[in-house]
Amino acid sequence: MKKVDLKNLPPEELEAFLADLGKARFRTRQILRWIYQRGICDFSQMTDLAKDFRQELAEKATLSEFVPEVIEKSEDGTEKYLFRLDDGETVESVRIPMGEGRSTLCISTQAGCAMQCEFCFTGTFGLLRHLTPAEIVNQVCASLKQGPVNNIVMMGMGEPLHNLDNVVKALKILYSEDGLGFGARRVTLSTCGLIPEMEKLGRQVRVGLAVSLNATTDEVRDRLMPVNKRYPLKDLMAACRQFPLQPREKITFEYILIRGVNDSPADAKRLVKLLHGVKAKVNLIPFNEHPGSDFRAPGEESIERFQTYLLNRKIVTVRRASKGQDISAACGQLKGQMDQTPQDSGG
Ligand code: SAH
Repeated sequence: MKKVDLKNLPPEELEAFLADLGKARFRTRQILRWIYQRGICDFSQMTDLAKDFRQELAEKATLSEFVPEVIEKSEDGTEKYLFRLDDGETVESVRIPMGEGRSTLCISTQAGCAMQCEFCFTGTFGLLRHLTPAEIVNQVCASLKQGPVNNIVMMGMGEPLHNLDNVVKALKILYSEDGLGFGARRVTLSTCGLIPEMEKLGRQVRVGLAVSLNATTDEVRDRLMPVNKRYPLKDLMAACRQFPLQPREKITFEYILIRGVNDSPADAKRLVKLLHGVKAKVNLIPFNEHPGSDFRAPGEESIERFQTYLLNRKIVTVRRASKGQDISAACGQLKGQMDQTPQDSGG
């Protein structure tokens, strides 16, 4: 019988697994604390469990663990971790300092991505595979050993809603009070706009929602994000209006500014119209140039003009600071470099 990786199990499934072994409910809490609060991945070290119980766990279960294969540190404090998976694939996480010793961790949900957005470097790899719940959670566990993690954003490699079941399980593990204990307000999931899965997500679990909008007409969005042909802007905005939110909670709309493509005053004007009646804030991201694309970042002036237009219409608009410019910052870039190095001949 194949051993179960307990890191794949949300608390209720861990409880069921232990119930099958005839164990009482409080064992779930005990084991969650060992794994996630103390970072112990070796059953023999779980000293408040009876010896024969630890033995039985070791026979029936495993606990996977990530150790970064590469750590890149930027001068601005941004750190990027590359993790190698059991089958040789690689994924990345990025810790972004937020001041006052706090940091946000950006994690991946797939190796590669199937969405084929034209501006995105990860897309050039295609979808290699979905990450398991354990592989999503292990990015957080490993990063916590490097420093604090105050907020988590699922904005790394992959489309989280294309891997919905595993992402929901991972969220439940992140939220578990006896485990990692992240509140839902501290976790954000970013999607390119898979509408049916957005609706499912809203029914299944609470999480902050970010939507990558990136264009204000179907014509431009069709070209930048092929997903728009299936789920065009009108339907996407309707789904956003329906998405369950807490009082005062907003949806974050990410908008990459690409020179000459979507950065005009007319775009700013259309964006305001699109967001009408949506509890929204806007995150402007100057395009991060990379070898996979001819797109360019806009000039400083047009970024400011775009932001000012939104602010003047009372739309909360922040500009995402470009961090880690000196460490292959854009999503997928570290993976891109690693996969080209000669010593990486395995897969
Ligand atoms: N698939 C999800 C999450 C991964 S992409 C999504 O689409 O939201 C995370 C964010 O990075 C998205 O907002 C995306 O638009 C942005 N992004 C991707 N490539 C970029 C680049 N080269 N420059 C700036 N932002 C980029």
